[in-house]
Amino acid sequence: MIKRIAYNVFEVESETDPSKTYTVFYDRFRKKFFCTCPGFVTHLKNGKPCKHILSVLSSIGNEIEL
Ligand SMILES: [Zn+2]
Repeated sequence: MIKRIAYNVFEVESETDPSKTYTVFYDRFRKKFFCTCPGFVTHLKNGKPCKHILSVLSSIGNEIEL
């Protein structure tokens, strides 16, 4: 489940542990998404967004101004 908590801040439930949520944040100045999950840094090195960012993207579509 995804909860929008601010214009560019989203809370995404962990698929493996629903008691956990990760915060996905879109930085309009750096034009990048950030996520608080542990895998985010690894994904960033590989140049791929983590699955939380992907679910935010698919849920908001192009609603957010990127
Ligand atoms: Zn993530």
